This record gives sequence, structure tokens and C-alpha cells, in this order.
Amino acid sequence: MRPFSLIVLDRDGVINQDSDAFVKSLSEFIPLPGSIEAIARLSQAGFFIAVATNQSGLARGLFSEDDLFAMHQQLLDWVQAAGGKISMIAFCPHGPDSECDCRKPKPGLLAAISSELNVLPLDTVVVGDHYRDLESAWALGAQAVLVLTGKGEVTLACHPELKEKIVVCANLAAFAELVLKEKLHG
Ligand SMILES: [Mg+2]
Ligand SMILES: [Zn+2]
Repeated sequence: MRPFSLIVLDRDGVINQDSDAFVKSLSEFIPLPGSIEAIARLSQAGFFIAVATNQSGLARGLFSEDDLFAMHQQLLDWVQAAGGKISMIAFCPHGPDSECDCRKPKPGLLAAISSELNVLPLDTVVVGDHYRDLESAWALGAQAVLVLTGKGEVTLACHPELKEKIVVCANLAAFAELVLKEKLHG
């Protein structure tokens, strides 16, 4: 991997447990083992950390924006308590049939983060468990990393070529380990 300074994380299946029935409330928002510590360590190492997440459950009426903000405040609090910082959380509230430019695989969320934090996509890595997360990165020339949590195993089974093409990590903790060991700060 080439060095980078901004790490954009997908949320469900990367930071917290994914659910096929959608993560709808604070009680369903459960961090994956080691993920909060991994974010804190990367933040302490000087990386900008942001989150880009499709939340079509909003358009589907499964939860409200207040429910979503409660989950995101919890995430910010957890990371802060661990000694780290998340600089921005960008979400797409639209459904799959909307013509929005933010729902991944579209790169709108990444573009918004890039412009807000003033870091080029070229200096950015996107970490995701779904193929569309990776596509959103490639669309703007960012690097992509697949984690095998959440839908990651299924993604790799459907796209076995990823193993040769990009870095694949067991989980976010393993990604942090790799980044800190290889000194990938740009
Ligand atoms: Mg995901
Ligand atoms: Zn959208």
C-alpha cells in the first residue's frame, strides 16, 4: 500500500455488528471486538478518521434520524473514551432506487469527507466489508481495503480476485496492526 493520511471506514460490519434486519437502535449498535481500540490507535498515530455509511433504513422508515444520531453519538463517545477521535460521519439516507449520488457504490460520501477534511482521495484509504464500499473508493482514486467481518467473507467469495488486487484483513484491529507496523502514515 502507498501511504495515506485519511482513513474512511464503513460502519456496519466494519466497526459494529451488521444485521440483515438493519441496525435500527442504540441497543442493536454493538461494536465488533477490538474495533473501537483500533480506531483510537489509528487516530493517536495521526490519521484522520471518518465514517461513510449507507443508511437506507431511514428511507425505508425503519428508524428515525434521531435514532441514527444517537448511535453516532455513542460511537463518538466510545472512541473518545478510548483516547481517539472521529472527525466526520457522513451517511446516505436514501433508498436503493433513489438517484442520489451519495449511496455507495457512488463516491458522494467520500467526496464530501475529502472536501470537508481537505484531504485528497489519493491520500485516503477506504475500509469496507461490502464490494460497493471498495467501488466508492476506486471511483475517486482512493485505496480500498476489505475486512472479513460483516459481509466481508461473502464479498471475498464473490470476488476472489480481491485477494491479489487489494489488502484483505481479518478485521479492523488487524488493519490497524498492519498500518502501524508498516508505518503507512503519509
Ligand atoms: Mg458494511
Ligand atoms: Zn444518498
